[in-house]
Amino acid sequence: MGLLSNRVERSEVRPGDHIYTWRAVYAYSHHGIYVGGSKVVHFTRKKEVESSDSSNFISGLISQASSECPTFPDCGFQLADSGVVLTCLDCFLGNGSLYCFEYGVPPAIFLAKFRGGTCTIAQSDPSEVVVRRAMHLLQNGFGNYDMFEKNCEDFALYCKTGLVPVDEPGIGVSGQASSAIGVPLAALLSTPFKIFAAGPLGMATVTAGMYCAGRYITDIGVRKDVAKVEVENLSSHLGFRRVEDTESVNRSSDKVKKLLPLKRKRER
Ligand SMILES: [Zn+2]
Repeated sequence: MGLLSNRVERSEVRPGDHIYTWRAVYAYSHHGIYVGGSKVVHFTRKKEVESSDSSNFISGLISQASSECPTFPDCGFQLADSGVVLTCLDCFLGNGSLYCFEYGVPPAIFLAKFRGGTCTIAQSDPSEVVVRRAMHLLQNGFGNYDMFEKNCEDFALYCKTGLVPVDEPGIGVSGQASSAIGVPLAALLSTPFKIFAAGPLGMATVTAGMYCAGRYITDIGVRKDVAKVEVENLSSHLGFRRVEDTESVNRSSDKVKKLLPLKRKRER
């Protein structure tokens, strides 16, 4: 694996590896966990999906890939209400090349990588733990697919590290989402940098610097607002966050208040 490319051969991939491939001419990468036996567990949209163009595009790619698999009869296994799917390596890659996501990367090398979503400073857990998490989520689901809050990269990052964000529910952990939102905005808003950005070359340099800095701050290995949540507790953890976001938490706490006096009476 070189500094500029994480490209690997199929024979080099081991169970528990976080692999990815570029889709739609390098517009975005698709991530998954290699679980052995030429199988990959990855996170996509649910089977029955919305009508927007981008979701049709993505689910179209996936169903097209998994519907007629010549290699494995059980390829494309997916629970009805889950976005987690098991396919063979061929269907995962489509016509794309195979890349391996790097863990435990030193900060200097992390910052030298230009493109978001190819490596992290966070350490990977042992491969058998990673495979167990992926298989558990295949059988239990991973919630709804969301490009910015929870996507295929977050799924793979979670399987590898067990880390989830705890108090900033709006910000996903993946490099793809953070480089898409954070950096162009930061580059536009920060006036001191515009002074240095005299020509197109200067602007490019500054933007690249901002890009890497933004990526560094949101990297899961650097962030302090992440916690290790074991896979058996993940659905309740995510469920708790979902309740917290809506107003139903007020309703349920009202219910609790009403119940409390009764409970005390019973105790007496
Ligand atoms: Zn297949």
